[in-house]
Amino acid sequence: MVYIDPGHGGIDGGATIHNIKESTLTLSISKKIKEVFEKNNITVLLTREEDVALSTNPFVKREDMLKRVNMMNSSTACLGLSIHLNKFSIERYRGAQVFYSTTNSNNALLAETMQKSLIQNLKNTDRKIVKRDNIFLLNKVTLPCCVIECGFMSNPEEFQLLQTEDYQYKIAYALLYGVEDFLKLY
Ligand SMILES: [Zn+2]
Repeated sequence: MVYIDPGHGGIDGGATIHNIKESTLTLSISKKIKEVFEKNNITVLLTREEDVALSTNPFVKREDMLKRVNMMNSSTACLGLSIHLNKFSIERYRGAQVFYSTTNSNNALLAETMQKSLIQNLKNTDRKIVKRDNIFLLNKVTLPCCVIECGFMSNPEEFQLLQTEDYQYKIAYALLYGVEDFLKLY
């Protein structure tokens, strides 16, 4: 069983480009991940299934983040992936990239395995994993976990791709193969 966290939601749309919110795309990609994983006998739990914040007061981001952390930590999932999209001031930056922290000793291995699968299966990123100690979710989740930045909304070509069903499925399969590889090593 794997926990998938569609980043942002509700009042927090994340990055927005041409009125398209990161939170919409992360949910759409996450639903495809669930479909693809479950076809391959890996149960998927989602931290949210609609465009909502998880807090009782939708303006309190910390409560939303804590709920996501608690959902993951109180589950029997073997790992968690938080799905996000990147945005940068320079348009030419592109490519899927994995962020991790050292909260769980297997996080570097998970991140490396997922990045390798994204490189091999998407064939359009040569990015390297990045260690971050300032991502709340990564600092609090105790199961193996990483943040998957699926691509840059600020790169016009990649932004188009990220909105297509085909490419969203391609990402889902890249993540499936990464998870399968990780579970063999872990
Ligand atoms: Zn995000």
